[in-house]
Amino acid sequence: MIDISQLRLEPGVERSVEVPVAVPQLELGGVAYHAPAAPPIARVDITRVISGLLMRLRLHTTISGPCHRCLEEATVPVSIDAREYQSDHPAPGAEAEEVCDYLQGDELDISTWAADAIVLSMPHKILCKEDCEGLCPSCGTNLNTAECTCPPPEVESRWSALQQLVDDAPEG
Ligand SMILES: [Zn+2]
Ligand SMILES: [Zn+2]
Repeated sequence: MIDISQLRLEPGVERSVEVPVAVPQLELGGVAYHAPAAPPIARVDITRVISGLLMRLRLHTTISGPCHRCLEEATVPVSIDAREYQSDHPAPGAEAEEVCDYLQGDELDISTWAADAIVLSMPHKILCKEDCEGLCPSCGTNLNTAECTCPPPEVESRWSALQQLVDDAPEG
């Protein structure tokens, strides 16, 4: 939380503060991800303009969670650069553009803002490494660290048989 009344914002004046942000645990598609235990430092710029407040949040951190392929813990860097605007007199119906959801009175909720911005800038699939071999679909062996004796999956031939069925299906 930042108490913006402490910043003595006057029109045209930009204040920058660097604050540690406790990033809450994130949940994406039922999977939990977390930032490092030591809270990353965010830079927050707040400018009072004639009609309201401009706010910018910048943060570099890492996010950890299960690798999309092998389920081992994976850590990826994430950078955010997010902006919000709070109008002094929001026009009715323009709430999304003119109201900052993270500002309650004079308190700016950096944690929630950072968490939302991190979710938006996270890679779609977190991988422990670019060429992660994943798990064997038959026996579950982690193919990065071991080999198994399962026959190669017959995915290709099954797919082509399925494709044949689709091609042969009568139209309409
Ligand atoms: Zn992996
Ligand atoms: Zn196997």
